[in-house]
Amino acid sequence: QAKEQGRNCFCFYTADMNARALALLDLERAVRRALERGEFVLHYQAKVDLRNGLVCGAEALIRWRRENGTLESPANFIPLAEKSGLIVSLGAWVIDEACRQLRSWRDAGWGDLCLAVNVSARQFFAGDFHGVVSDALHRHGIPAQCLELEVTESMLMEDPERTIAILHRLKQIGVKLSLDDFGTGYSGFAYLSRFPIDTLKIDQSFVRNIVVEPEAAMIAVSIIDLAHRMRLSVVAEGVETEAQLGYLKSKDCDQMQGYFFAKPLPADQFLGLLQDGKCLPYARTLEEKEGR
Ligand code: C2E
Ligand code: MG
Ligand code: MG
Ligand code: MG
Repeated sequence: QAKEQGRNCFCFYTADMNARALALLDLERAVRRALERGEFVLHYQAKVDLRNGLVCGAEALIRWRRENGTLESPANFIPLAEKSGLIVSLGAWVIDEACRQLRSWRDAGWGDLCLAVNVSARQFFAGDFHGVVSDALHRHGIPAQCLELEVTESMLMEDPERTIAILHRLKQIGVKLSLDDFGTGYSGFAYLSRFPIDTLKIDQSFVRNIVVEPEAAMIAVSIIDLAHRMRLSVVAEGVETEAQLGYLKSKDCDQMQGYFFAKPLPADQFLGLLQDGKCLPYARTLEEKEGR
């Protein structure tokens, strides 16, 4: 019995299924309440254009600011929100909030920014996803091409035919579509060419090992080549070092995202980054090399 094992017991791991189910229900209730109370926030991670080192956009990443002040990472509540179906309303909030934020940046003079949001399978296949997206764009007066939806290949492979139909309807609105975590699920070339997508995002697991592991480098380079042959743009995520940056740039990767440039930041700090004109660490490196 957990109680008898004293304070340092591993009660969480030995808890029976019933207790676990109850804990899940508790968390589900907490997430639902958090949505009502406005405890979710979006942080923004810069995407940097490698041709000029400028910030060309951002990815919105959700955080849960709990009553006690802790900032909960999406890994701790997104899977549950997916299981319970809450992701449909949570995801709609993310899209609305992203468009609201984009409006305020546009009003401040940053009209060229593109903002990406992550989309879950359950949300994508729910009844009126198309309506959620177009309503949010209209409500905030955002041109569709400034919003990018990040989907994953594994989620699209659940039902490729239906997926293709939904993707085409979204393309008709004019939003951008990208395949996140690319290379980790296998969607096959036949389908890939039928998905009307704009961008491939190389998964961080390859980027992390790109200069130390030939296999990772080979995969990343193949993805860049594949993207360009399909006339898609390609983004590397999880770039943390100058060596990774240099390698990817030499292989003609279009955009990058990662701690080397900037961590995901609250909206006001992201605006600060924009006002600096460039993504600082990279710009500085470039200037030093080019003797500017
Ligand atoms: P993702 O979409 O692949 O996002 C990239 C994750 O990598 C983010 O974690 C980001 O903070 C992290 N990251 C970025 N640069 C680096 C780096 O240089 N090094 C390392 N080690 N990590 C880096 P985060 O914010 O914890 O999000 C995790 C995942 O949660 C996301 O993966 C996405 O799948 C999901 N997620 C986040 N926000 C949302 C959302 O609003 N809706 C949905 N459905 N899923 C979301
Ligand atoms: Mg993403
Ligand atoms: Mg990713
Ligand atoms: Mg991911």
